[in-house]
Amino acid sequence: MPPVQQRNSALDFLPQRHDLHSLGEAAKDCRGCDLYRNATQTVFGEGRPSSVIMFVGEQPGDQEDMAGQPFVGPAGRLLDACMVEAGIDRKAAYVTNAVKHFKWEPRGKRRIHKKPSMREIAACRPWLTAEIEAVKPRLIVCLGSTAAQSLLGPSFRVTKNRGRIMDVAGYPPIVATVHPSSILRAQTDDDRERERQLFIADLVAAARHV
Ligand code: SF4
Repeated sequence: MPPVQQRNSALDFLPQRHDLHSLGEAAKDCRGCDLYRNATQTVFGEGRPSSVIMFVGEQPGDQEDMAGQPFVGPAGRLLDACMVEAGIDRKAAYVTNAVKHFKWEPRGKRRIHKKPSMREIAACRPWLTAEIEAVKPRLIVCLGSTAAQSLLGPSFRVTKNRGRIMDVAGYPPIVATVHPSSILRAQTDDDRERERQLFIADLVAAARHV
């Protein structure tokens, strides 16, 4: 088979059928931006095909890149635990990321997360939009600024609009909260616990909405 050529966006790689299976298979060959070059594999979303609630994170991390699944590393385990406390069944939700390849830089032997650029976020948005159209959730919960800015624009600030349910043309209602990795980065145990409780409160509010 000839090598797949790189393009400027994921749009050129979307399949004709937009069901989750076809999308996930097609995303494996995406060359819509440079990020596929240093990643192990595409990490597509997963969950119930007709979930009422969709969680969107930033990008896969080191463990997600290796496993090929979203939110299976430390931040994912925290998300799982907080979902349980908020009464949300992860198996009944759909979980994905705004960007489907792991962007990283080396530090010694470690691969350190690097924030995707707005160009990379925009290049990957067709996959996220197609997932939203396929799942048709009643609410999208953006976890962190990258996910929020992908859907709500680059000027969106989670710090200012956290927890506010927003109506955006072409999408189901959207609410933004922090990414669970930011809770893990809290400086003290007290800060971490306070941030965790605020996050759970945001999830409870989201669950009530649906
Ligand atoms: S990050 Fe998104 S647009 Fe870029 S290559 Fe990966 S799947 Fe394609």
